[in-house]
Amino acid sequence: MQIMKLAIFCDFDDTITRINVTDTVLERFADPSWREIQEDWLAGKLSAREVLQKQMPLVTVEPGELDALIDSVEVDPFFGEFAVLCAQNKHGLYILSDGFDYWIHKILRRALSAYNGSAKNIPVFACGLNFERDKAAISFPYFPQGCIHGCATCKPALFERLKAGAEKSVVIGDGLSDLLLARNADLVLAKNGLREFCDREGIASHAFHDFRDVLQTIKTLKENYHD
Ligand SMILES: [Mg+2]
Ligand SMILES: [Zn+2]
Repeated sequence: MQIMKLAIFCDFDDTITRINVTDTVLERFADPSWREIQEDWLAGKLSAREVLQKQMPLVTVEPGELDALIDSVEVDPFFGEFAVLCAQNKHGLYILSDGFDYWIHKILRRALSAYNGSAKNIPVFACGLNFERDKAAISFPYFPQGCIHGCATCKPALFERLKAGAEKSVVIGDGLSDLLLARNADLVLAKNGLREFCDREGIASHAFHDFRDVLQTIKTLKENYHD
């Protein structure tokens, strides 16, 4: 049987992890005024990119303290199995995130330490974070210049670029930045806010609670594919 090649676009915060890491870092280590900036973002007054540009300079933390928090972030227990399935079937699996590469790489390395080969080398497209003493310096390496949406990481631009060559595109996510992809994806796996946005816009989506559900949906998709 021919294996259908998928391009799978997966969000990170609240999708692979149980929490939003950026928000947790801000709660723990930022000046409390980060919350007012968050309110402005929720009210639509600031873009995702602008909000991070304003919030992250409010963070003061020793790298050791930050690493301790990063080491405690819980990952979906079935994500590793999902990464293996993608590697075995040669699906393109891409993590697209408005979060920061610094902790995404650390968290993935820990979560995938038991696996081998391409299962543990998932391409990550996220914002950049470096420490200059105890201050965070951030960057937006993925297309903020050409982005019309105000993204921190332009997920739609990456989607267009990376889906080439795949037979079907799959989006897995929970938030507003994933909605931009859900509109054009062949299959959407959604939870929380994304599920509601999809319902409101009439976009078909499969609800998922954890990656056990994602594995099941992808396997069903393969079984039903005849070409
Ligand atoms: Mg998310
Ligand atoms: Zn964009």
